[in-house]
Amino acid sequence: KIKATNIWKKFNNLEVLKGIDLEVNEGEVVAVIGPSGGGKSTLLRCLNKLETIDKGSITIDGEELCRETSGGTEYVKNNDVRRIACKMGMVFQQFNLFPHMTVLENLIEAPVNVQKRDKAEVIKEAEVLLAKVGLSDKRDVYPRKLSGGQQQRVAIARALAMKPAIMLFDEPTSSLDPELTGEVLRAMRELADEKMTMVVVTHEMGFAREVATKVVFMADGHVQEQGSPEEIFINPKNERLKSFLKVIL
Ligand code: ATP
Ligand code: MG
Repeated sequence: KIKATNIWKKFNNLEVLKGIDLEVNEGEVVAVIGPSGGGKSTLLRCLNKLETIDKGSITIDGEELCRETSGGTEYVKNNDVRRIACKMGMVFQQFNLFPHMTVLENLIEAPVNVQKRDKAEVIKEAEVLLAKVGLSDKRDVYPRKLSGGQQQRVAIARALAMKPAIMLFDEPTSSLDPELTGEVLRAMRELADEKMTMVVVTHEMGFAREVATKVVFMADGHVQEQGSPEEIFINPKNERLKSFLKVIL
């Protein structure tokens, strides 16, 4: 569960997030849509502390990451920040696999070296995750030998190997050829069916419509409208949302 309240973030003089509220309940799949430059990636990066917010409060899984103060915000201690950030797995547009490691080595690296978990056990779990994303036969292959869709499915399995409570996806299919997006969306859909809590920034309106429990439309640093897929796609109220949908659908 995520609760973000009154999130403000600027880069130099550019206000990118202007008082964003976002709530993601357990087992929910929230799709974040909106025009380029609207602050979607920045919002995700603030949630897992890849960026520091200027003002507001964020609670992850019932634990405070930062709390709003009169001057802006106050983060918890560094150790706690790290632990809370680890509750979230993130998958980016660029797969970011370690090129010098095999698929299996990519999956077990952080669980073994960061989480200090038992290697044999981690390997067993990694093999289960590879089977789940349909890549058991690629266990000992290097990333460069894989298609984009396969690499992205490895990236998803690698994030899951950390046993996150929440998965964050930032346009996971937008650097893929159209014929490869389906296999990645299928893996994400399976996760959603298993009731993984997910936040997905996406241009895939089909996915947002069919899989999301809630759709959030962001533009100009504000949540302009949010609601069920029906409310957003069939009965949009906000004018910016209406014109966005007209262009994209
Ligand atoms: P897209 O759909 O193109 O991915 P987005 O909604 O994800 O767009 P962001 O990447 O969050 O948008 O960017 C919002 C604004 O913040 C943009 O104007 C961008 O140039 C700016 N921005 C993002 N990151 C930084 C940074 N590290 N330093 C300075 N400006 C940044
Ligand atoms: Mg982005």
